[in-house]
Amino acid sequence: MTDYRARSLWLDGIPGELTPRASLPGPLDVDVAIVGAGFTGLWTAFYLAKTDPHLRLAVLEREIAGFGASGRNGGWCHTTFPGSREAAAGRHGRQKVVDQQRALHATVREIARVVDEEDIDARFFMGGQLDLALTPVQLLRLRETVEWERSWGFGEEDYCQLGAAEMRERIRVAGCLGAGYTPHAAAVDPARLARGLADAVGRLGVPIYERTPVTLLEPHRAVTPFGEVGAEVVVRATEAFTPQLPGFARTVVPIYSLMIGTEPLPDAFWDEVGWREREVFGDFRFLIFYAMHTADGRIAIGGRGAPYHFGSRLSETYERDPRVRDHLRALLGELFPAIGDAQVTHHWGGAVAAPRDWYSSVGLDRSTGMAWAGAYIGDGVATTNLAGRTLRDLILGQSTELTGLPWVNHRSKPWEPEPLRWLGVNAALKAMASADDAELRSGRPSRRASYVKKLIGA
Ligand SMILES: Cc1cc2nc3c(=O)[nH]c(=O)nc-3n(C[C@H](O)[C@H](O)[C@H](O)COP(=O)(O)OP(=O)(O)OC[C@H]3O[C@@H](n4cnc5c(N)ncnc54)[C@H](O)[C@@H]3O)c2cc1C
Repeated sequence: MTDYRARSLWLDGIPGELTPRASLPGPLDVDVAIVGAGFTGLWTAFYLAKTDPHLRLAVLEREIAGFGASGRNGGWCHTTFPGSREAAAGRHGRQKVVDQQRALHATVREIARVVDEEDIDARFFMGGQLDLALTPVQLLRLRETVEWERSWGFGEEDYCQLGAAEMRERIRVAGCLGAGYTPHAAAVDPARLARGLADAVGRLGVPIYERTPVTLLEPHRAVTPFGEVGAEVVVRATEAFTPQLPGFARTVVPIYSLMIGTEPLPDAFWDEVGWREREVFGDFRFLIFYAMHTADGRIAIGGRGAPYHFGSRLSETYERDPRVRDHLRALLGELFPAIGDAQVTHHWGGAVAAPRDWYSSVGLDRSTGMAWAGAYIGDGVATTNLAGRTLRDLILGQSTELTGLPWVNHRSKPWEPEPLRWLGVNAALKAMASADDAELRSGRPSRRASYVKKLIGA
């Protein structure tokens, strides 16, 4: 039996057993079959069942609810636009982009509402997000970011610049020169959110069939070893696992992101560093890190740095890497010298899904009944909720503000076949790392930065 607890700090902290729910008992006919019980699949089931209790729904999950990225992530419930705002504005106009950004801001509040209403113990706390400037180059980038937000019409109340002293009042991070702050973000225990949401979906009468792999996803049917599920609409909510489905090998690439979690830190540490509002924070490097103060007094921090694996292969062995673990632990020591020799109790990881044009999407093809949402890269915790509500409206045939947003029915072109894909993705990851190194060494913006920005459509 798979040791689900070992897959993340968050899954390890779930009270009670992680016993899988029953598998699909046999062939089934439903109105909507949802493949994947991560946030995307679960939010979709939740909103559909709430809006139309008569719909016949089924969720098919290969492992258990929250097994994927939803149960392993950095716990940032934040509102990064799911692609390049400029590229989206080129296709749909600037107002649509602003509408989508505003919809994302509202999404954090919507998740807070549901967590409260459904009494989900997700340790959800809206402390906002800080983008730290740790070097003079990052300070430049911070100023540019503030100007850029203003150019889109977002004011101080959406994104503001904090000086070094203001930052110290929030969190005392060594060498921090200032930060960007947005209140539109929360810290969350993602596995508790996913598992609590699965229970809420169950209470609405929707079956979640666990340990039920879908081996083929086609118009109006999902094939499993236990029988076929026929449906008017099938929803693909499989994110980084998508390339394993026949016919979807080049839809997204899985890119591993790895994390560590410390032991609970003593009061003396928190007295020294502050961080009472549990803001999530990172900085302006390309190969990002993301940190959060957990509800039980630990620090969880993650970063990229693991390579892309040939053929979009996924494996449990890729989820830990001593090099990345040591790098993240050393980074914690640089940010917070007071952390001393605090132990790392958890090291884990998972894959995010990257689309070829770095632009997430949600959609439904009425002619085939195939719906999808995903390719969120590292920004799915809040965005999946927006996706779930959008899929509800699309499936119910309602034209709403959400169905008019620019990412709806966007089609990213497929990734290149191997070995080009392997060469290209790893070259991009290396370029990001070397742009960061060059900036640290020289103290000046790297010329590679514009190449990297172009690669990721920033
Ligand atoms: C280490 C890490 C840190 C991250 N940090 C953040 C963060 O701080 N903030 C943020 O916004 N985003 C973050 N992300 C991204 C975020 O977690 C994801 O975007 C989000 O959870 C995606 O949810 P999902 O439901 O689409 O996919 P998943 O949660 O991956 O769910 C997909 C589900 O589908 C199931 N499945 C797959 N294939 C099949 C099949 N063939 N048959 C049946 N079931 C199948 C899987 O078992 C899985 O349960 C992070 C991701 C990782 C890996």
